[in-house]
Amino acid sequence: MELKNYIRTIDDFPKEGISYKDITPLLLDPTAISFAVSEIIKGLEGQPIDKVVGIESRGFLLGMLIAKALDVGFVPIRKPGKLPAKTISQSYDLEYGSDTIEIHEDAIQKGEQILLHDDLLATGGTAAAACRLIETLGGEIAQVNFIIELDFLQGRELLPKDKVKSLIHF
Ligand code: IMP
Repeated sequence: MELKNYIRTIDDFPKEGISYKDITPLLLDPTAISFAVSEIIKGLEGQPIDKVVGIESRGFLLGMLIAKALDVGFVPIRKPGKLPAKTISQSYDLEYGSDTIEIHEDAIQKGEQILLHDDLLATGGTAAAACRLIETLGGEIAQVNFIIELDFLQGRELLPKDKVKSLIHF
């Protein structure tokens, strides 16, 4: 199955000059979704995963399905002020300005093996900040996976490279 056929490119969204990769056609197709989830968990057989962490908001979509397929819990990483209990925060640089993400401080226990998921890897800033949150809580990054990776931005340079897995490359 060619998953790339389920990704649509929208030019000049959300701003002029940006070529936005839209995963919603993939979400419309249950066979494509099952295939994507099975490809992500393939190869994890000998590697125990304790939890899946997904990044707001598109990382929640397949993130929860990956957690269900692995029969483990799911942890959301969210924008500031959205999580109700006690959180820790991590800020990271954007092209212009900075952004912050948060995680519940009791969501991960020391030594847990974590699979981090998001829909798309661009510059890597978001996923690298998510890795820092996980590691601050004592979690260990077992795999960082994405549906889409924009290779030309070299985002994986900011991540534990040997643990990065993406299904579709542009
Ligand atoms: P990064 O921090 O530059 O790697 O940006 C990754 C974050 O931006 C992810 O949470 C993505 O959901 C979002 N993102 C950036 N570009 C796109 C896109 O073209 N389509 C969908 N999400 C995008």
